[in-house]
Amino acid sequence: MNEIRPSRPNNLDAFWMPYSDNKYFKGTPRLLARAEGMHYWTADGQEILDGTAGLWCCNAGHGRREITEAIQKQAAVMDFAPTFQLGHPIAFEAASRVAEMTPEGLDHVFFVNSGSEAADTALKIALAWQKARGQAQRVRLVGRERGYHGVGFGGMSVGGIGPNRKQFGAQLPYVDHLPHTHLPAQNRFCRGLPEHGAHLADALENLVALHGDTIAAVIVEPVAGSTGVLVPPKGYLEQLRKLCTKHGILLIFDEVITGFGRIGANFGAERLGVTPDIMTMAKGLTNAAVPMGAVATSAEVHDTIVNGTPAGIELFHGYTYSGHPLASAAAIATLELHRAEDLPGRARAMEPYFEDAAHAMRDVPGVIDVRNIGLVAGIELEPRKGAPTARALDVFRWCFDHGVLTRVTGDIVALSPPLIVEKPHVDRLFGTLADAIRAVP
Ligand code: PLP
Repeated sequence: MNEIRPSRPNNLDAFWMPYSDNKYFKGTPRLLARAEGMHYWTADGQEILDGTAGLWCCNAGHGRREITEAIQKQAAVMDFAPTFQLGHPIAFEAASRVAEMTPEGLDHVFFVNSGSEAADTALKIALAWQKARGQAQRVRLVGRERGYHGVGFGGMSVGGIGPNRKQFGAQLPYVDHLPHTHLPAQNRFCRGLPEHGAHLADALENLVALHGDTIAAVIVEPVAGSTGVLVPPKGYLEQLRKLCTKHGILLIFDEVITGFGRIGANFGAERLGVTPDIMTMAKGLTNAAVPMGAVATSAEVHDTIVNGTPAGIELFHGYTYSGHPLASAAAIATLELHRAEDLPGRARAMEPYFEDAAHAMRDVPGVIDVRNIGLVAGIELEPRKGAPTARALDVFRWCFDHGVLTRVTGDIVALSPPLIVEKPHVDRLFGTLADAIRAVP
């Protein structure tokens, strides 16, 4: 075990922190200094139970020796090599490993460095595919209200969380949104997939009626995570799949959160029984030890673009770090851990216990909804009058100060622990959360 080394930066000014209340944080810094297994330790040495797998990404738990050693070994052999018109073996091996894990038919893998890049890459591939098959008029992209696809211009535009777009006037043109699938009146406190809401996919018919054959792709998260855990209604994704196929529209699943075991299967597509044409992933791909994302596509999408170009570069897209050797090494080691420890199976086995613990929150005053699937739960709080989001933020801070890391969005607390979580951890996560909600009404 590494020695705990309290480390405090002398100056917090220079780092402009992402998605943060910088002024608040810098007045009351909460600094994480070390991580192992299910826990973080603060710079002061306080143990924090990780209820969020970092940021939905350390699915195999923290500080996994196998991943660390793979990165160290690769760094010593070759730090970097380009993948533009060149290659290195480990990137090809990583892609093959990913393709082995993705649902059948999604066998071509394009590497990126984040979920945001994965979303923008998937959208660009969809546009390129439509053009390559002679449908250049298909330039319209459809997302969904309350969707999150990262922060690039493409992902931001198809995303459907208001504040993420409001601050930046310019968006991609030719973007529409399907309605979100949150129907609390019918589905409140639902376990797993809600009964009501499959019909919401039919809104795509309205967009087709409006725009004709100009829609290139629809992008959705199989389970919307960042908006506060919205599980798809029964039959919804099936209907979306059917309509996309019927109208020549590509279906993209953003599996940045749902990938790599989070909902009790390798991918959401597998658990939910619907296969998209393109799938994005990131986070759990390398257990977050090195940034990496990927886009997996069907042979139809890949071959139409690649084989349809007689010679020369087929896709004018890519990143300096696509297939970075250290990230590739981390991905291979991570996927090996997933297989060896059957992390998706482990998540599935823990799901009933986790679900019961989540739904026991129903009895805590102020909890107005609980939603869950796999090892993800969203606990929605009644907002404080005149101060939306303030209550959940106070709950987050209370939990942290009492040794538990949660994540909040709006007035929803999301829990998504590493998939190695054990029953006593589950008890502590929900127990602390219940105490917090009672303590900060
Ligand atoms: N897509 C989804 C579904 C996400 O949840 C996220 C991040 O939470 C992203 C994309 C963006 O990923 P990143 O922050 O790595 O760019």
